[in-house]
Amino acid sequence: MYIAQILEKLRKTYPHQHEFHQAVTELLHSLAPVLKNPIYQKHAILERLVEPDREIFFRVAWMDDAGKIQVNRGCRIEFNAAIGPYKGGLRFHPSVNESIIKFLGFEQIFKNALTTLNMGGAKGGSDFDPKGKSDAEIMRFCQAFMDELYRHIGALTDVPAGDIGVGAREIGYLFGRYKKLVNRFDGVLTGKGLDWGGSLVRKEATGYGCVYFAQEMLGARKEDLAGKICSVSGSGNVAIYTIEKLHEVGAIPVTASDSKGMIYDSEGIDLSLLKEIKEVRGGRIEEYAQHKRNAQYTDVKDYKSGTNGVWSVPCFAAFPSATQNELSLADAHTLLNNGCKCVVEGANMPSSTKAAEVFLKAKICYGPGKAANAGGVAVSGLEMAQNASMHPWTFEVVDRKLRTIMKEIFENSAQTAQEFNDPTNLVLGSNIAGFRKVANAMIDQGY
Ligand code: GLU
Repeated sequence: MYIAQILEKLRKTYPHQHEFHQAVTELLHSLAPVLKNPIYQKHAILERLVEPDREIFFRVAWMDDAGKIQVNRGCRIEFNAAIGPYKGGLRFHPSVNESIIKFLGFEQIFKNALTTLNMGGAKGGSDFDPKGKSDAEIMRFCQAFMDELYRHIGALTDVPAGDIGVGAREIGYLFGRYKKLVNRFDGVLTGKGLDWGGSLVRKEATGYGCVYFAQEMLGARKEDLAGKICSVSGSGNVAIYTIEKLHEVGAIPVTASDSKGMIYDSEGIDLSLLKEIKEVRGGRIEEYAQHKRNAQYTDVKDYKSGTNGVWSVPCFAAFPSATQNELSLADAHTLLNNGCKCVVEGANMPSSTKAAEVFLKAKICYGPGKAANAGGVAVSGLEMAQNASMHPWTFEVVDRKLRTIMKEIFENSAQTAQEFNDPTNLVLGSNIAGFRKVANAMIDQGY
């Protein structure tokens, strides 16, 4: 009843925010067993969680290389700061709208709570498309974006980071402008360059963390990844470092994709070729097949069914690492029919609601994004700790801490799932674990 009331109100107030509804509906349904405790309704916890603390929208006017003034929309949605300063990435992509940033910001609250660190939830971004822009255009856009954002953020207030379309280059330009505007060098952004306050392992963290999480899930069932075929979607930061770690643990990652198509390499993805194409040249995944003869390239328009061609490749484990709703119900059935035993979400909400239901029903190892991809923001938290102490840690130290955090996230989620009599359901386990931490802090602190 309480859940239905909240969802109904949300649908009426924000009728067009589909991704946001999807994220809230998924979370609230899995909270049903814990919401039997009347304390949460008494303190209006759900009403307060689904409405962000504040939403900041602004115009970003910048000049392109031809001297023409361009205008984009920017925003920062600060959702919840019950357990720490607002924390979450910035996404620059033409699809960005209020619904997408709200779903991401909402999920960030619970993901961050799971990391064991003290971080609240936020997200921001712009409909600016970095693809095809020159470095100078990217810099002018980032400077204009920060001219508005700087007054709302701070090392102990709100700490943005990267997401789709925002990597080391963008963080550099954003940080440079922030520092000039406030005349202070502090840890206001994470994902910084290694020479100026960044943390080792931050770049690799989400991908490595996903593989560590997969190892924990599989280990609990006395299985592992060694020698196993894995499908990975995407070819950004998350996908590249998932592939790197999969190679390291002896698995065979055979796919990668971008918005134009996918590649299948039965010998295992050549990591240095992939990095050369994507990290150095900023090229298309299609080029991979031009350099490696045995690899097959399939264009999106030739995908036979589902959302992404990579899901039709038979695999033991699937790592959706591209974007929201990239794995449909049809894809979920195809994966299971081909013998897939493990799905680990590197992207945020990559499985549609129906696809996720199918994975839960099949009782395979299913690691939902809020738990499985929390390694990225966890190392952001470690970057904040290093900045605050002015003392950087070695690669080994950060990597060991990341590993421990992923293990703790798995154990916390699995134990919570057990407590609520649904032991294989890590959606329920991770959602309830994250929710309880945030809700209890909200109750402690008053409304
Ligand atoms: N964008 C990443 C995420 O979805 C990282 C956020 C951060 O490091 O603050 O969790």
